[in-house]
Amino acid sequence: MNGPRTFGPGAMPDHAGLASAKVRERMVNRVRELGVRDSRVLDAMRVVPRHLFVDEALASRAYEDTPLPIGQGQTISQPYIVARTIELAIEGLRDPQKANVLEVGTGCGYAAAVLAHVVGGVVSIERVRALHERARENLRALRLPNLRLVFGDGSRGVPQAAPYDAIVAAAAGDAIPPAWIEQLKTGGRIVAPVGVDEQQLVVAHKDESGKLIRSGKEAVRFVPLRGGIA
Ligand code: SAH
Repeated sequence: MNGPRTFGPGAMPDHAGLASAKVRERMVNRVRELGVRDSRVLDAMRVVPRHLFVDEALASRAYEDTPLPIGQGQTISQPYIVARTIELAIEGLRDPQKANVLEVGTGCGYAAAVLAHVVGGVVSIERVRALHERARENLRALRLPNLRLVFGDGSRGVPQAAPYDAIVAAAAGDAIPPAWIEQLKTGGRIVAPVGVDEQQLVVAHKDESGKLIRSGKEAVRFVPLRGGIA
């Protein structure tokens, strides 16, 4: 799969082809084959240009269903994972278009852009300043007025914009931070990878008594959730 390519997007001499709906449609088909069915999520992935979020040298691989390096030892998540996480986050929401969602781990900003097409408002926090700034650059041209980027340690959530209907994390800690549960609305959802050596994508909601009820899990691999800023 990673060998030299003689046809397909990898062989394109410039990036003109990457802007086409066709390559994006292929990626969406792959994500659908893997089980993501929510048309709101699939539609958003059809319109967000993933190639604008990776280095020029990797742009020809932007629509493969694979994570790619974005610098600072971090990666842009695999498209399937972005889609699945967002699908799980909005599944239980009465009206996603009105939902206030926190994303922890902006990275290059791709998932934040997809989320912003699906929900009412997105706050996305990143702890590595260089990535936070890069995401701001990447997102400028997309003009998403309902997306706010924050620099800081997301393991404390973003209390200024709480409460949230959903919190999605793109980095795995050994447990769900208490701040996230505090900043979540009753009935709200958290979708987060949890675990150190073996990770699971935990899906949980907050019940009337403020307790977190776990409802699902799948094996995943994310970068680690780290404390502090860099
Ligand atoms: N959402 C990204 C995925 C980026 S990878 C995408 O669209 O592909 C996860 C990101 O989480 C990394 O950039 C990493 O720096 C960041 N991260 C890790 N711990 C964090 C924390 N405590 N607060 C905020 N961001 C964190």
